[in-house]
Amino acid sequence: MCGIIGINSNKSVSASIISSLKKLEYRGYDSAGIATLSNGLINEIKSEGRVDNLEKNSLIKNMEGTIGIGHVRWATHGVPNIVNAHPHSSEQVSVVHNGIIENSDELKKELENKGFKFKSQTDTEVVTLLITKTLKNNGPLESVFKTLKKLKGSFALGIIFKNFSNIVIGARRGSPLAVGYSKDENYIGSDSYALKSMTNKISYLDDGELCLLTKDEVSFYD
Ligand code: GLU
Repeated sequence: MCGIIGINSNKSVSASIISSLKKLEYRGYDSAGIATLSNGLINEIKSEGRVDNLEKNSLIKNMEGTIGIGHVRWATHGVPNIVNAHPHSSEQVSVVHNGIIENSDELKKELENKGFKFKSQTDTEVVTLLITKTLKNNGPLESVFKTLKKLKGSFALGIIFKNFSNIVIGARRGSPLAVGYSKDENYIGSDSYALKSMTNKISYLDDGELCLLTKDEVSFYD
């Protein structure tokens, strides 16, 4: 069990992500991490152990970006260390994941045969690299759809994209995902408790559903 959060806003999101991660900490405390989009790039900060350690990182205070995702980890694939901490990012995309990709070994081999290099031991990085590969010929939503079709197992995912800097995509199969709505700000999170300090307008994604968050609205796809 891990905890994920994603926010699309008109103001900086790093402080809200950290405070939501503290509420999700009961779901995992092997590591914590955050990724935001700023200056046209994906920026990641991760730490081993509890969210407190992440918060102590001096770079967090100045972490910019109005779009971001965060994670607290309870490791299933790969030891609890900083390399295996989420988010897992390529240059193009950054992913947080709660769940288990059962066919990750097989997908990893296929990607390695096509020249993709893995940095971590996690099952999650397979999702990052599959989306990255599919993005070469598809838009963000199609890339996520096509990637999810290849996955066996359970997941709740939060995804941001370098080149599509106004969206956050959420998706779930098996693992829970709440969606929160506010003025100029929308959210995904592993539970409603993580979103409650930001909004009381909360719904839940259906199993197999995807959502696309802009700061102004949320669209659903199945
Ligand atoms: N399988 C992922 C990992 O080990 C996510 C863990 C979880 O949701 O429990 O990093």
